[in-house]
Amino acid sequence: MSAQIRATPAEFDVARYRADFPILAERIHGKPLVYLDNGASSQRPTAVLDAERRYAEHMHANVHRGVHTLSQRATDAFEGARERVRVFLNARSSREIIFTRGTTEAINLVAQSYARPKLAPGDEILITWLEHHANIVPWQMVAAATGAKLVVAPINRRGELELEAFARLLGERTRLVATAHVSNALGTVLPVKEIVALAHARNIPVLLDGAQAVPHTAVDVRALDCDFYAFSAHKMYGPTGIGVLYGRESLLEAMPPWQGGGDMILSVSFTGTTYNELPHKFEAGTPHMGGAVGLAAAIDYIDGIGLERIAAYEHGLLEYATERLGTIEGLELVGTARDKASLVSFTLKGVHPHDLGTILDQSGIAIRTGHHCAMPVMEYFGVPATARASFAFYNTRAEIDVLVEAVAAAKTLFG
Ligand code: PMP
Repeated sequence: MSAQIRATPAEFDVARYRADFPILAERIHGKPLVYLDNGASSQRPTAVLDAERRYAEHMHANVHRGVHTLSQRATDAFEGARERVRVFLNARSSREIIFTRGTTEAINLVAQSYARPKLAPGDEILITWLEHHANIVPWQMVAAATGAKLVVAPINRRGELELEAFARLLGERTRLVATAHVSNALGTVLPVKEIVALAHARNIPVLLDGAQAVPHTAVDVRALDCDFYAFSAHKMYGPTGIGVLYGRESLLEAMPPWQGGGDMILSVSFTGTTYNELPHKFEAGTPHMGGAVGLAAAIDYIDGIGLERIAAYEHGLLEYATERLGTIEGLELVGTARDKASLVSFTLKGVHPHDLGTILDQSGIAIRTGHHCAMPVMEYFGVPATARASFAFYNTRAEIDVLVEAVAAAKTLFG
């Protein structure tokens, strides 16, 4: 291989990518913004903002029902976005791609439409200790309504799933496994292929909460062989208010609609209603067309860089941050899984995470502090809260240096 060819793929022109994100030029309290809260919501590049604007300026009308040109443009844009998501996930059919408001709504859809009609008293739903509340509470709600039980697979002190214990918890009464692909509180990447294989060996379907996975890793639902996959656009450089539920067609086909209204019907009379076909059966009411267009643009944008390159670059950031933060006395990393996405959760002796977050904000640094909607994880580690810095491909080592210096200064101030 020539030196020239070798040199090209290794380059990751972060300055060029940063220029695509107007908000990164913002100053906060007079300091350059250091945005390290990507796990909560990432920022949008101009390509996404432009796509949303183009849709609003040239295509917007209500979808599906209109014969006029704008309605057809809106429908084409919306259905084109669905096809873009299908390709992104490598799903077999766009009938398997349901637009939702986000991960939370996608999981609730499965809880109410798939699980609830099936569950009998004593049946079990198996989740893990690593879940976000969005993958706990919907199951508690259906369990309360049906007499089913929530069973929780344990983790270890690194914040990794105990896979053997998980396997032992799969039983005669397990009706569904619902697990994170990547933990939002700790960054742990779960062994989802093994999880799916273990569950499928017992004919148990698996839902994966991919909210923290899609920005960092290529997801192929056919290779994963999962039955449901949920994610939100706003964590992968797209807009808020739009997300996706992928579902295996045979399962979606058999599920009843969960919300009634326009668009999800073929005909309505007072004596009975015929439901629309997939995917519209699960999309009652006017959808977020501009959001879907923005999501498709975000996928195009990410694909343009390449998720493998993004993952490799972010891994470098994670290693650098882990090493540098480790030099601060009294700083303890929470979550040290061997397979981790690019975020660090930590506590600092003598400094409450909320105080730390407020002090860092004064230096222009945005991190998240709190329980990260994963209270059981905090309980497991015996901490009320952590500080979490979550990295995107537009972050730099220099920004991590700014973070480390600010954390060290906070320690001196309080310590
Ligand atoms: N699951 C995980 C792992 C998450 O990180 C989040 C968002 N923090 C959610 C679910 C919920 O996503 P949303 O609020 O976009 O519905």
